[in-house]
Amino acid sequence: MYADIIVDISHEHLDKTFQYAVPDHLLDEIDIGVMVNVPFGRGNKIITGYVVNLTKQPSYDILKIKDIKEIVPQRVKTVERMIQLAAWLRHNYGSTMNQALKTVIPVKDKIQAKQRKIISLVVSKEEACTVLEQFQKKHAVAMARVLQALINEGKCDVSDIQTKLNITAKTIQALENKGLVQIETEHIYRNPIKGTILQNESVELNHQQKEAIHTFIEDYNNKIRKTYLLYGITGSGKTNVYIEMIEHVVNLGKQVIVLIPEIALTFQTVQRFYRRFGDKVSIMNSRMSKGERYDQFKRAMAGEIRIMIGPRSVLFTPFNDLGLIVIDEEHETAYKSEQSPKYHARETAVHIAETMSASVVLGSATPSLESYYRAQQGLYQLIKLDKRATGANLPNIYVEDLRKELNEGNRSILSRRLAAMIDDRLKKHQQVILFLNKRGYAGFISCRSCGKVFKCPHCDISLTHHINHYGNELVCHYCGYRQPEIKVCPECGSKYVSGFRAGTQQVEQMLSQTFPTAKILRMDMDTTSKKGSHEAILSSFANHEADILVGTQMIVKGHDFPHVTLVGILAADMSLYVSDYRASERTFQLLVQAAGRAGRAKMPGDVVIQTYTPNHYSIEAAKEQNYEQFYDEEIIFRQMLGYPPIQNILKISISSKNEDALLAACQDIAKWQDKIKSELLTKSKRSALSAESGLEMRMNGREELQITGPIKAPIYKLNDIYTQIILVKSKDYEILTDFKDKCDIYVRDNVMYKNISVQYDFN
Ligand code: ADP
Ligand code: ZN
Ligand code: ZN
Repeated sequence: MYADIIVDISHEHLDKTFQYAVPDHLLDEIDIGVMVNVPFGRGNKIITGYVVNLTKQPSYDILKIKDIKEIVPQRVKTVERMIQLAAWLRHNYGSTMNQALKTVIPVKDKIQAKQRKIISLVVSKEEACTVLEQFQKKHAVAMARVLQALINEGKCDVSDIQTKLNITAKTIQALENKGLVQIETEHIYRNPIKGTILQNESVELNHQQKEAIHTFIEDYNNKIRKTYLLYGITGSGKTNVYIEMIEHVVNLGKQVIVLIPEIALTFQTVQRFYRRFGDKVSIMNSRMSKGERYDQFKRAMAGEIRIMIGPRSVLFTPFNDLGLIVIDEEHETAYKSEQSPKYHARETAVHIAETMSASVVLGSATPSLESYYRAQQGLYQLIKLDKRATGANLPNIYVEDLRKELNEGNRSILSRRLAAMIDDRLKKHQQVILFLNKRGYAGFISCRSCGKVFKCPHCDISLTHHINHYGNELVCHYCGYRQPEIKVCPECGSKYVSGFRAGTQQVEQMLSQTFPTAKILRMDMDTTSKKGSHEAILSSFANHEADILVGTQMIVKGHDFPHVTLVGILAADMSLYVSDYRASERTFQLLVQAAGRAGRAKMPGDVVIQTYTPNHYSIEAAKEQNYEQFYDEEIIFRQMLGYPPIQNILKISISSKNEDALLAACQDIAKWQDKIKSELLTKSKRSALSAESGLEMRMNGREELQITGPIKAPIYKLNDIYTQIILVKSKDYEILTDFKDKCDIYVRDNVMYKNISVQYDFN
């Protein structure tokens, strides 16, 4: 028996399987998905690897095939479908197989599930009280403290007692020797959401919610599996809809995965699921230890957990009969991985669902252009909720023109309207949220007098200010276009040409000067770096311990603050001009989600959006809270410039520490890509001819494949590594993956690329 093995080294040049022989004594244990130790290379260094295939046919000279050394003990065996999924990720997003395997196997080690020691009284409470008095008289403080705790609570966790009451193991031993307490070892699975109150949230679902659930259940019972886009405005009660759908699927004995962006994965949200499903539901998050994660996986595999909630990595929960994947806030950027393979959880979920005959429900108040486009094309089924479930009205939205404020002599960060409204809320003892989108902090460049934004002539993406050894430059983050800094606005002659450069800290200072009596909380990266500080700030604000909360986008997500009646967005443009083709989409989403924080309860809410470009369609559509209006404009922009979802983009980053080697490689690859381009195009035409239906579309598409670059990356040198980029665009995703595969093969066997790394990023 021979095993094909992916070695645990993520290097492009080793991205292939290696064959080893299975020694007789391992025949029983060997299986696809197990982890093994093997001798590798000339020195026969022992390294680990995953078995991805078993065969009786050797592919090499059997005299040269080495033996597997051993099976790594204490490893979780990977289920076979995860290996197939890894291959799919590798194909569609580009990475080594080893990186892809690491992605689909988030839990590798069998870490011993925690054993808990429980201490309890062996004597009656009355007796314990008598002994307690004696201890106190004798000043045996430590023993007295333990007894007191046990009298109050009955049972306690030994490690809790030790840490919280500052007790040593000796003291506990002494109590045990005196025959007062006993210690029992309890083997437990840790349920991370235990200890919450079980109280059913009973709301009478409204007509729209019932319709949505009915559609899903009807299909499900008719064995129809598909992807639904649940487009429901903020506060329309999407969570209740998910819960009913989930219950239906769980009652059929199937399992469910629920993705929620980590930032929105708050206690409040999780509790709503826990209340309905109790111990059947569990969560994963990045703060959990390896042992805790292993426990959850084991419980999932054993069928004890039926619903797993968490960020994108819970997609890889090894359920064996998955029935449904729910993705809440499906438009969130956090669903795309920043490491290779740079997979998107939404697309991956749809793929997993197809392979396991499950359905997918994507939910959002501001769907991604991709999802809404697919719904329009009939690939996803659109379900709409357009009323707030609590009956509360949507807020009043005011758009304030900051150019006008400046021209009329107001140089403050606050428009006159926003300042007056804050003052009014403080008097009424209501709360205010001020939101500063920090995404574009490094700065788009605009004229503060006329609002003109300086954009790349090739990409229609705003230029970003960079300081380097050429001096001040404006750079396009897409194509690498550069031009000297602009000092005077070519449109109106004003000298106020700059980036918007106020941070949350300055805003906080300015507020405390303007409103000296107001209590202000700030929430941003600086104030939330300590564990738990995030929750502390939010709960303090929820308890009305402050009047104003100033923060970055992290305050926008999923919190209900009933006393908030005013939300101010200080500079809506900041996200409008980050150099990203999704900038308008992000802005619209942020504005709508931020506005959704105002007036959630009985009191009506107001929203003030401050901007230099009040006529931009994403701001106009946000003012109307009208997603379709936004979509109709945005899809035209994507169409004209060939951005997703109309076309697909592959970004190839080529980097090296050696600049000369990099430049030589780029010259070489430029020649290679011209050759490959014509090859790919003839190939796609040929395949189109055989597949009749695609024929017309293919032949009419003039530019099926566009290549730009290699060109310097916007940040050309970072940590001593130089990077050049190539952008490849095509309507046909498969042409891009073909391009990637061919590039991979070309680079792998070419000495010129020995010290050069090639990375892929799709869309
Ligand atoms: P979304 O996720 O769509 O923004 P949520 O699911 O958070 O909305 O629901 C918003 C609020 O409305 C929650 O407090 C929820 O308990 C409440 N809610 C949901 N459905 C109903 C209903 N049918 N009747 C009354 N309140 C509801
Ligand atoms: Zn100007
Ligand atoms: Zn450009």
